[in-house]
Amino acid sequence: MINKHFQNLKQNYLFSTIAHRVQAFREAHPERNVISLGIGDVTRPLPPASIAAMHRAVDEMAVAETFRGYGPEQGYAFLRQAIVDHDYTARGVQIDIDEVFISDGAKSDCGNITDILDTRLSVAVTDPVYPVYVDSNIMAGRPAGGSIRLLPVTAEGHFVPALPAEHIDLIYLCYPNNPTGTVLRRDQLQEWVDYALREGSLILFDSAYEAFIQHDDIPHSIYEIPGAKRCAIELRSFSKTAGFTGVRCGYTVVPRELQFDGVCLRDLWNRRQCTKFNGTSYITQRAAEAIYTPEGQQQVRATIQYYMEGARMMRERLTQMGYQVVGGTDAPYIWLTTPAGTDSWTFFDRLLNEAALVTTPGVGFGPSGEGYVRLTAFGSHENCAEALQRIAALG
Ligand SMILES: *Cc1c(COP(=O)(O)O)cnc(C)c1O
Repeated sequence: MINKHFQNLKQNYLFSTIAHRVQAFREAHPERNVISLGIGDVTRPLPPASIAAMHRAVDEMAVAETFRGYGPEQGYAFLRQAIVDHDYTARGVQIDIDEVFISDGAKSDCGNITDILDTRLSVAVTDPVYPVYVDSNIMAGRPAGGSIRLLPVTAEGHFVPALPAEHIDLIYLCYPNNPTGTVLRRDQLQEWVDYALREGSLILFDSAYEAFIQHDDIPHSIYEIPGAKRCAIELRSFSKTAGFTGVRCGYTVVPRELQFDGVCLRDLWNRRQCTKFNGTSYITQRAAEAIYTPEGQQQVRATIQYYMEGARMMRERLTQMGYQVVGGTDAPYIWLTTPAGTDSWTFFDRLLNEAALVTTPGVGFGPSGEGYVRLTAFGSHENCAEALQRIAALG
């Protein structure tokens, strides 16, 4: 017998439908240069510091004296210490090395974390949402007998989700946000932490895009908020920060103070990882460590500035053209309101057929995404500029 919960998953047609429509357009118009503003993947190469570190690590693997076999399931101390020092201590947040768990990326951790939680939990996600949060819970049969509560993120609500009116056990927050590109200020995030402490809820905070933050009043970590260590798990990734989407490395922080049902979640997660995970490759962890060297930091910042310059160009030009946009100031995503009376898919088709541009229809991320398309700033500046000219020519 199969896990019948898989039958409760909605078919996710979003990216396959996009691919089909793009393919059909290319076949009908082989002469057109199609530009993608839809991809959620980086395009710039890895920082040279990481490349050099990987070469050195490969050479170590070639010699018996420096060869490494299985590493610690939690990750090597050299990387965990670099994370503690640079991502937390430097921001005034005290995190212990034993609270940091290295993984092969935030998507895996995000799906795996539900291993340590009961199926009867109530769950809430913001809408629109990164689909992994929803589908990984459905696969696990959660919430048993119910449905996942959607917290709408709308223009009327200034793109800030309202606190749930009822008690929710498990809440997913992703800031800076994919897909809307919006952020929460410290005082806004504090309200979520206060809610979770009051209600005894657990927050899963996905900060995969923290490196894109440009403004000082935006928290990089939920642990910058007082009380968060008692109610939140934080997921981080080197994918968007340093171009590791193909290399695979991320980490999860589970503070010791975090108790759920009177149990230390850090110990449960440690047990889970030791049983089901054998660590991220040594070579990869050396590549990640190199991001924290002075050269690595400078290289990573330069790449992020490149993407954010593309985002700025798009925001400014689209606004001048009369479009309503949010995001793109502290995240590589722009959430564009479609012209009045046009739904997400109609506008997607229009941009494809009239301008040879690929976007992502907002409704694909949830019902509150209707009336929006998501643009990404991961392309080249040349493509951004050309895309903007074509949008301007649409009239
Ligand atoms: C890209 C992304 C991640 C990173 O996933 P990895 O598995 O680390 O590549 C995590 N969360 C969100 C919302 C993302 O968009």
